[in-house]
Amino acid sequence: MRILVVEDDPAVSQPLVEGLIRNGFEVEHVGYASQVMPAVMSNGGIDVVLLDLGLPDGDGLDVLREIRRASDVPVIIATARGDETDRIVGLELGADDYVVKPFSVRELAARVRAVGRRRRVERTSEGGRVVVNRSHRTATVDGQPVDLTTKEFDLLAVLAEEPGRAVPRQELFSRVWDPVWVGTGKTLDVHVASLRKKLGDPDLVETVRGVGYRLADIAE
Ligand code: CA
Repeated sequence: MRILVVEDDPAVSQPLVEGLIRNGFEVEHVGYASQVMPAVMSNGGIDVVLLDLGLPDGDGLDVLREIRRASDVPVIIATARGDETDRIVGLELGADDYVVKPFSVRELAARVRAVGRRRRVERTSEGGRVVVNRSHRTATVDGQPVDLTTKEFDLLAVLAEEPGRAVPRQELFSRVWDPVWVGTGKTLDVHVASLRKKLGDPDLVETVRGVGYRLADIAE
């Protein structure tokens, strides 16, 4: 898997690039907005882009727009802690996921693998009852649109990445709510209950005792 790291700060990019290589990824690194599109469109091909939003010669969100006009390569944006606006706008513009700075190589590697897995699932999930379109933020069950809140959608989107996989509660917390979750577990259960109701078939979201939840939607 080949990752394009877009990051202008050497104090961030150097350990990051080294860490990703240690984790078995191929890495290309650029520090300027103007270098991103040539790298994305290069012959070698890029599987995932990690995009810093604060670049010396341009706004990362403009770069994201430009990428999306030309390519559906998965993009993970790196945002500053607390900068929720950038995060939301980034996801609306078609970013696949985000990491909050400072993040660990381990966390990023997990996100990269999840994004890769999601892409595979999008290609193979035809025949399943639940269809989630992340870029349009729409979901259907048996072809019928389901009206979900933001959190319900995010929850379903994570579960739908890999139908049948038991997703641990902690992963759901950290990916749908906050990387450092400190609340009670109630919020998750409340959202699952309302998601089940809206999907019209409570059995679609299964409780996996002692682990978390799974989407019981395996194509026949
Ligand atoms: Ca920067």
